[in-house]
Amino acid sequence: MRFDLISIFPDYFAPLTLSLMGKAEDAGLVSVEAHDLREWATGKHRSVDDTPYGGGAGMVMRADVWARALDEVLAIPLRTGDEDGTLASSRRILAIPTPSGTPLTQPLVEDLACADQIIVACGRYEGIDARVAQHYRGVGVEVLEFSIGDYVLNGGEVAAMVLTEAVARLLDGFMGNPDSLVEESHSGAGLLEYPVFTKPREFRSLQIPEVLLGGNHAAIERWRRDRAIEKTAAVRPDIALSLRADSLGREDRAALAACGVAYPREGAARPVDIRRAEVGDAHALSALAARTFPEACPPDLPREAIDAFIAAELSPDMFEAVASQPERYRILVAEVDGALVGYTLTVVGKGAIPDECVRPGKVEADAAYLSKCYVDAPWRGSGIADTLVERALADAAQCGHTSVALGTNRANKHAQAFYKRHGFRRRSTRIFDVGGVLNHDVVMVRHLTGADGRQLA
Ligand code: SAM
Repeated sequence: MRFDLISIFPDYFAPLTLSLMGKAEDAGLVSVEAHDLREWATGKHRSVDDTPYGGGAGMVMRADVWARALDEVLAIPLRTGDEDGTLASSRRILAIPTPSGTPLTQPLVEDLACADQIIVACGRYEGIDARVAQHYRGVGVEVLEFSIGDYVLNGGEVAAMVLTEAVARLLDGFMGNPDSLVEESHSGAGLLEYPVFTKPREFRSLQIPEVLLGGNHAAIERWRRDRAIEKTAAVRPDIALSLRADSLGREDRAALAACGVAYPREGAARPVDIRRAEVGDAHALSALAARTFPEACPPDLPREAIDAFIAAELSPDMFEAVASQPERYRILVAEVDGALVGYTLTVVGKGAIPDECVRPGKVEADAAYLSKCYVDAPWRGSGIADTLVERALADAAQCGHTSVALGTNRANKHAQAFYKRHGFRRRSTRIFDVGGVLNHDVVMVRHLTGADGRQLA
């Protein structure tokens, strides 16, 4: 690949002969040619700039000087059979650095790495006469006006070096170990990279995270992915909301939702707020409960029975009553764009769990009771339910419980698998009355410490 960097300060590019970039050039992988724009200037002073039309401060670089330079560099043959530089199969890009350009991102750099030649026209002063980009675009040249960040430099040389290095390191054979590119920031889903550590094992009393010392590769991979997600959500919420959704697995989505970013099955990611319910949420909670409860019922349950249950158990009055007793009923809600899309209701304290669930030795009478966990259909699989459940469990632990029990319809295998992923195990059964129709539930228990090895944070 060939880079032609045109500037009034060609010596600026000397550092590109160092390190991996220099080696790549020696190996013939890339060629970097620095050109002095003044070679195409005329007159005694070889001037490249003039005063701006319309007035104002500063000088503007002349289009005619740039055009003489660019015509020549664009005609350089790139391969045999392209002696006049017009072979259609060669991809040549005219890149013009400017703070008002398209932000240079990794996906853009990945695309540029497929070119045969990149010519960078480095502006100085107030920039290059706008007709340069206009003209070359007009005659069919691929023109990219790019910015390396929301700040202003004195000239385009640093931006040219940024582009050259970012593109060249993606070329096959550039990196000694191509795996180095795989998990970098902005690659794959687009996440920022996880924190990295090396020897010494202890540095000024700071330790290496335990999981990295254990050799459990799956656990290490998960830990790194979770840290990458946390970092991205904290440092670059804009990136966290625009990740490549098809490369996010279920655990990624759960980790993102825990950081306040929910990816629905379809459509754009949205910020999600997981918070305690207030009495004022009662009507919205009742509507959410009435929408979601029927979807969890077995298909043969009569609609009248479901409606009777909703009227008796999921009314606004009922939610107002429980929301006003937070010492007994803990309600967490997930809010997206001002609407409630999910909730959990946990009963805590003495006698929280219904009598019919208690089985001494299997389901203890002092367990907290996860009475409800529902999420609107478009947000299922987004990680919102995972976050609600994990927060509800942490809350139950804080209330002094060592286990949490729940009942779920025995036909609802999906719900059982979900709870199993959250450390619940099937311990018993019960009969559950929905509007006068008796249903068979499984009773599942999650120990908050100890026995099953899972600890709450
Ligand atoms: N008057 C221009 C403006 O306000 O947009 C700024 C001109 S700047 C002083 C001179 C040159 O520095 C630009 O033509 C461009 O080549 C380069 N430059 C400055 N900031 C840049 C950035 N953030 N990204 C890319 N190039 C930049």
